[in-house]
Amino acid sequence: MDCPKCYDQFKNHILEGKLYHKCHGCGSLWFDKGELSQIMQAKDWFKIDSKHEEASTKIDRSSLLCPRDKETLHTLEYEHETGIKINVCPECQGLWLDAGEVQAIHKISETWLEKIKEIIEEELTAVELFLIKIGPSLPK
Ligand SMILES: [Zn+2]
Ligand SMILES: [Zn+2]
Repeated sequence: MDCPKCYDQFKNHILEGKLYHKCHGCGSLWFDKGELSQIMQAKDWFKIDSKHEEASTKIDRSSLLCPRDKETLHTLEYEHETGIKINVCPECQGLWLDAGEVQAIHKISETWLEKIKEIIEEELTAVELFLIKIGPSLPK
């Protein structure tokens, strides 16, 4: 599985019996659909993100590809003030977070899974509506 940012490989990691994926090169994290809510049940789970500094908001997120199916990841704004963004795959609903983002989000919110779910649902609904609208003209 290639990292969308540095193209290094994600390695499987286990925390308290729960699976997550961390890039060997840049430390970014990948969660398949449902994995984030699983891992969040582990104690101090956010420490799987080894970067403590604020997440970089400088990276170009326009061409990040899903490590599972190579769909272009959608960029969602988690919080406007801090400029934290997350990326979700519209196809498999996997989540990609750059190194430092898990710690950064954790710092500002204890209930961020709910918020992330909300943001993703909103976004996916928008994507679906968009696809329905332009559907027939899309090259397959
Ligand atoms: Zn990487
Ligand atoms: Zn995907």
